[in-house]
Amino acid sequence: MKPIQERLATGEVLVADGSTGAVLMDAGLSPGIPPELWNVENPAQILALHQSYLDAGADIILTNTFGGSRVKLDATGLGGRVRELNRAAVHLARQAAENHQAYVAGDIGPTGQLMAPLGKLTFEGALETLTEQAVALQEAGVDLFWIETMSDLDEARAAVEAVHRASDLPVFCSFSFGSRGRTMMGLRADRAAESLWPLGLSAIGANCGAGMPPVLEALKQMHAVLPLAPLIAKPNAGLPRLEGDRTIFDMTPADFAAHTPRFVELGARVIGGCCGSTAVHMTAVRSALTGRVV
Ligand SMILES: [Zn+2]
Repeated sequence: MKPIQERLATGEVLVADGSTGAVLMDAGLSPGIPPELWNVENPAQILALHQSYLDAGADIILTNTFGGSRVKLDATGLGGRVRELNRAAVHLARQAAENHQAYVAGDIGPTGQLMAPLGKLTFEGALETLTEQAVALQEAGVDLFWIETMSDLDEARAAVEAVHRASDLPVFCSFSFGSRGRTMMGLRADRAAESLWPLGLSAIGANCGAGMPPVLEALKQMHAVLPLAPLIAKPNAGLPRLEGDRTIFDMTPADFAAHTPRFVELGARVIGGCCGSTAVHMTAVRSALTGRVV
């Protein structure tokens, strides 16, 4: 397989996968159980998840390691199993991707702790815990890293630096924006892009967040300050609403995929889905892109 940066450099648009957490909940993962535990306790389900996105035509699948840092796993008493859970996740993704021309991205999410001075996590503390995770992902054999759902610029910086310490592989980073076009920590997309891009990224963009509008706005801002950078759009399938004790996202695959041409115009070269999106949504995105090389 060609290195992913070469494909992005040609202007090709790559499809990533859709949501993990919501799909695993539907498959029986109980609330409060970290999804990463299923890498060892229910591997068949993780394989099936990856397989569904590969069958939908995904070029990139993310390992089931969003909450796989020690700080995050400590919340459920699993902090001592970082290496085991991250390695198992990579092996499953690799196994699924074996017969597909697909890249395995080592997924790194937020630690779940507020950074100092608002919270207790120092930059060095974040760097240490994220480096430990990045090393485990690197050793197990990912093709690239994907830092996602970031809202704090310092935590994102720590994550990028952690990956650079662990590896020479390409790094993607995406932030999560709310309805006012800022992250939970008040960060604007253009500032995120200007601050982080010089650290050495292969793609930057938006994932998750408050439906489609903030992702479109974030891409607009990022494209304005980094017109040549490959951007990422990995939105939720609309806004969540509660139905009984279930969270529903009701954007149909067709409505979701209808945004694809606009994302591409705004510089998106990696398009996937976050909460509420399924393999059917990704199939629709793939169809919207078919034959399209910008
Ligand atoms: Zn999400």
